[in-house]
Amino acid sequence: MRKPIIAGNWKMHKTINEALQFIDEVKDKIKNTDVEAVICAPFTMLYEMKKATKGTNIKIGAQNMHFEESGAFTGEVSALMLKELEIDYVIIGHSERRQYFNETDETVNKKVIKALEHGIIPIVCVGETLQEREEDKTKNVVKDQVKAAFENVSSEDAKKVVIAYEPIWAIGTGKTASSKDANDVISYIREVIKDIYSEDVSEEVRIQYGGSVKPSNVEEIMNEEDIDGALVGGASLNPADYVELVNF
Ligand code: PGA
Repeated sequence: MRKPIIAGNWKMHKTINEALQFIDEVKDKIKNTDVEAVICAPFTMLYEMKKATKGTNIKIGAQNMHFEESGAFTGEVSALMLKELEIDYVIIGHSERRQYFNETDETVNKKVIKALEHGIIPIVCVGETLQEREEDKTKNVVKDQVKAAFENVSSEDAKKVVIAYEPIWAIGTGKTASSKDANDVISYIREVIKDIYSEDVSEEVRIQYGGSVKPSNVEEIMNEEDIDGALVGGASLNPADYVELVNF
């Protein structure tokens, strides 16, 4: 019932020319229309990427936005501005933003609400550090993050949100959580959503796994019952790998 979603997170990589070349290479090879294919790219190339992907199966996302619509916020981009570009998705609360750019549970929540208000689907990232995992705090950490992110979000809106469970120790390290472990935490997140809302909502919310996903492990991860997709950093930068990931 839940449509799988494979999203690339390009982080701070590629120029406009490189992005357009990438789209050119992959657009006719994304055959699997049962899967939603997304690329979350830097702001500078979003406009050109939207144009280049018109009529294809590829959707475009941003990697962040501000929770205010306009104002004296030097260097920031608002949901309104993303809406103008017809951007479909926006990553909110990636661990790199939490770690380096002061993103907090509170700002994540404000951004989720603002994105939904403008019809942009938030991909909300949650996940524990290595230390938290070793101290057996994983579930408590993700529960708190999920609860905070969904505060004051209606159940109708909540159904649209995508959650990405990304254990921080697995990001860019080549280490992945075992698919069983990832599924265990993700089914727990579904329980948390059920507690906040209802079984209905929890059955509709899509939950991705992220952290060193690549063509060689995507199928195993996607075979897990509660895992509805992947948020992929490094491997999504390579056109051949991206095609393999989406056509898993
Ligand atoms: P990775 O990054 O696939 O390079 O581990 C995932 C992410 O940060 O979203």
